[in-house]
Amino acid sequence: MNLLLHICCGPCALYPLEVLRDEGIVPVGYFFNPNIHPFREYERRVEALRTVAASCHLEMIWDSRGYDINMWFRAVGSDTEQKLRCPACYEMRLEAAAETAAASGMDAFSTTLLYSRYQQHQAIRDTGVRLARRHGLKFFYRDFRQGWQRGIEMAVKSGIYRQPYCGCVFSERERYGAREKRLAASLASEGRAGRPGES
Ligand code: SF4
Repeated sequence: MNLLLHICCGPCALYPLEVLRDEGIVPVGYFFNPNIHPFREYERRVEALRTVAASCHLEMIWDSRGYDINMWFRAVGSDTEQKLRCPACYEMRLEAAAETAAASGMDAFSTTLLYSRYQQHQAIRDTGVRLARRHGLKFFYRDFRQGWQRGIEMAVKSGIYRQPYCGCVFSERERYGAREKRLAASLASEGRAGRPGES
């Protein structure tokens, strides 16, 4: 099977790559993730994936649109709540993966998003199946979450950068929500808290 594997980041790729190779599948990796903000973070994740690709001898397609955050913000629109924005984010990235797989003459595509315990797993699966059908492909589904701990151990051992939040500015804010509240409380304790126009 010729398979294009959409890869969200290096650490999430390690376990799925092991599973695929155990099944005799040698995928081509594909990177298109304009959901990763800000640019320095995007750069770090690209570097981590380069390291993984080199050590795993993985052929990669790096989407030439690169850090197209405008496309991501357009896709998500005003749906900034997690339950709405994440499916829109999956759709944008998996649509790009399906298009690339079809244009490259592949039989199937999949995504390392299926590895994360923090993603909306069923929504990713449903989106992949729907887009595969539209592009005349198969969606290769495995519940890569089964290897969550193994993937973490592999990433720690390899020494690659492991990010502390999913990618977008909203996920960064959610990750540090408690810290944000502590900061707001400490600022309020240092002076008068308020908004312009309040007396
Ligand atoms: S939390 Fe992750 S999957 Fe959800 S919108 Fe942000 S980057 Fe995309």
